[in-house]
Amino acid sequence: MNLPPLPDRLKLLALPAFDDNYLWLLHDGQRALVVDPGDAAPVQAMLQTLNLTLDAILVTHHHADHVGGVAQLRNAWGAQVYGPATERIPAPFIPLHQGDAPEVLGLSWQVIDVPGHTAGHIAFFNPNVNGKPLLFCGDTLFSGGCGRLFEGTPAQMLDSLDKLAALPSDTVVCCTHEYTLSNLRFALAIEPGNADLQTYYGQCVESRASGQPTLPTSVATEQRINPFLRTRQAAVQEAARTFDPAADSDVAVFAALRQWKNQFK
Ligand code: ZN
Ligand code: FE
Repeated sequence: MNLPPLPDRLKLLALPAFDDNYLWLLHDGQRALVVDPGDAAPVQAMLQTLNLTLDAILVTHHHADHVGGVAQLRNAWGAQVYGPATERIPAPFIPLHQGDAPEVLGLSWQVIDVPGHTAGHIAFFNPNVNGKPLLFCGDTLFSGGCGRLFEGTPAQMLDSLDKLAALPSDTVVCCTHEYTLSNLRFALAIEPGNADLQTYYGQCVESRASGQPTLPTSVATEQRINPFLRTRQAAVQEAARTFDPAADSDVAVFAALRQWKNQFK
């Protein structure tokens, strides 16, 4: 007997903020968590519209576009704030380290250290949200790209991305910026012959044209299309060496791609 699928217990929303940020909101119809609220206003508006209370604020790193609304939301709701132990997050907050697993919305969120974009950047992972793994990765992994290296080394960032790429392939990946189309134009310059990438680019162009986010993405999709997760592919290594002929290791290939992307038009 085929039963209809159960309705999702939890709803995931991407709230647009600033030019290209998404503030991720997860709720059960009554209580909510928000990730990286750089601005309180869109969060307050959605909480009011859906008649939700804010239980918790998860923070991945210290940049203003991720923490700018934290104090206002905490003051309005008494929400518990969680953030990386080694970064300056608006206090008070519960400091988190690799391997911690705070309970929020009845789920335990595994903390993963992902230094590179910032030195103390963390990600939050749960293996089963509505039957699927879910990842909040901040500015570490983007669809088709990765965060800039403001405080970390290429080796650290590659190691961090390897950790995220090792999560289950069906993991729902919530990135905090809509950078996908510009990332994919760079990815196509690196791997013009990648058929999955061509198809995905077409889908993302359509999503944006109809005003939809290209996110969330998945680990499986990123493994097929994201050059920063594909530094061991021969085609990606060859392309990297047209930028830096001395790129002869995984880390050097990654560093070359990251530097190339910084100046890619
Ligand atoms: Zn950032
Ligand atoms: Fe950001």
